[in-house]
Amino acid sequence: MQECIFCKIVRGEIPSAKVYENEAVLCFLDIAPVTRGHCLVIPKKHVENILEMPSQQAGELHEAVRRVAQGMLQGLGAQGFNVGMNNFQAAGQLVMHAHWHVIPRFEGDGLQLWPQGKYDNEQEMLSIARKLSASS
Ligand code: 5GP
Ligand code: ZN
Repeated sequence: MQECIFCKIVRGEIPSAKVYENEAVLCFLDIAPVTRGHCLVIPKKHVENILEMPSQQAGELHEAVRRVAQGMLQGLGAQGFNVGMNNFQAAGQLVMHAHWHVIPRFEGDGLQLWPQGKYDNEQEMLSIARKLSASS
């Protein structure tokens, strides 16, 4: 993946503020943080999204997310953290190299990530659950 910006970061061709790395995973600060300390946790081996990600790689990322999140609580004094992942363009994925966002949260930081809506009625809700269930 010659042109992938995160692959370039993995290869050291683009600088990054590294937080943690091992053979499989790299974690560095997001250049445009939602809150200070916002990290990206990425597999060193390029895959585009969670559907392409083998379970072993997902496990390696999960361990790194836990580690970095602990660091946010202990080292940054965060009281919580959000973990998020955008998959495909329609979901806001801009960099097509799979990555978890880990965002430290501080009491009263006022950030609201998910504006929530509602179903028209229970029928609609059940019909959507059935469709999903049939194709999962
Ligand atoms: P996405 O929208 O794909 O989930 O998130 C991509 C993230 O990568 C964005 O939050 C963006 O700020 C971050 N990003 C894009 N380019 C760079 C870069 O060159 N360096 C770093 N550290 N972060 C980047
Ligand atoms: Zn890549």
